[in-house]
Amino acid sequence: MKKLYYDSPYIREFQGTVVSCEKGKKGFEVILDQTAFYPEGGGQPTDTGVLGGVKVLEVHEKQGIVTHYLEAPLTVGETVTGVIDWEKRFIHMQEHSGEHLVSGLIHERFGYDNVGFHMGSEEVTIDFNGLIEWDELMEIEKKANEIIWDNREIYADFPEKEELDALDYRSKKELTGDVRIVKIPGGDICACCGTHVKRTGEIGLVKFLSMIHYKGGVRISLLCGKRAMADYEKKREAEQKISVLLSAKPTEIAAAVEKMKAENSRLQDKLYECYKGMVENRVNALECSEDSLFVIEKDFSALHLRMMVNRILEEKKGKTVLALSGNKESGFIYIMGSQEEDMRVLSKELNQKLSGRGGGSVQMTQGSFFAEEAQIDEVLSEKGFRKIN
Ligand SMILES: [Zn+2]
Repeated sequence: MKKLYYDSPYIREFQGTVVSCEKGKKGFEVILDQTAFYPEGGGQPTDTGVLGGVKVLEVHEKQGIVTHYLEAPLTVGETVTGVIDWEKRFIHMQEHSGEHLVSGLIHERFGYDNVGFHMGSEEVTIDFNGLIEWDELMEIEKKANEIIWDNREIYADFPEKEELDALDYRSKKELTGDVRIVKIPGGDICACCGTHVKRTGEIGLVKFLSMIHYKGGVRISLLCGKRAMADYEKKREAEQKISVLLSAKPTEIAAAVEKMKAENSRLQDKLYECYKGMVENRVNALECSEDSLFVIEKDFSALHLRMMVNRILEEKKGKTVLALSGNKESGFIYIMGSQEEDMRVLSKELNQKLSGRGGGSVQMTQGSFFAEEAQIDEVLSEKGFRKIN
């Protein structure tokens, strides 16, 4: 079986004769006398496209045989036209070539190996078995892009054994048999079976996105060429939207967010003071009593409700105090406190009657009731609570 993608990775359309077609678990398994469909392997995802008018779902290679998984069967002996999804394949070629360049430059500078490579639908990740600083990675990015813009030719061939033995290339140990060498002059020499662009210029651009510590080394995320360009546009669009929302120039959005956060914090403090005043007014209006009291407030957070309960208890204006805020749909948050009764027991009973949940300590519980306000009023007055308005 002839692998046309080794003759040229630029073959987008070809003719092949169907050697066999069998129904399998993942679709109809078709083998041709020759193919330009690249099978999944070496970190590069499978090609997809159309073969004899039928959709090609996946392509895999086993013991040198490339199998195409199709939606419908083809007739054995028939010559069919294969069309590769070129948009996707070219992105894979840009990414795979970019990966070689980056791995080669990192290997040259730090001696680290590429120990994991994944070309995902969102980004490419490469794992290296050693630590790198972000500044150093930026230097690698700069060098990689200089080689890209220098538009060097990328060579791929199967050298003779003698020549191969003398060659120092990455991934040397793992391979036996015919070894395909991919060479970027001044960038990388590596054994690889994937598809690459003909000249570095076609990679367009290499851009690192992030780097995290991973298994004693690092995992680097990057984008190349068309995907880098699409990402640039996505980020520009987001930046533009944020810029309009903040009424700030795109270069000044971080400073504008910082300013907004400081302002927000100042308002939070002010709001806290306002609620504190409301609570004090409420407490001052009450007479001292040994009653069980409950109050339903509008738009109080658990923090403010707790403030209310604590202040009423401190001023000895109630024996047991329950403060609530909310509505039936999202629930009424409640805080309940007492210096005498066991709040956990009472909470449990009220939760049962008012479709509630929550708990806490003997002195104080917190939770939510999912019931109508009228029902809450009824249940609480049955339990001897007096409502404060
Ligand atoms: Zn490769």
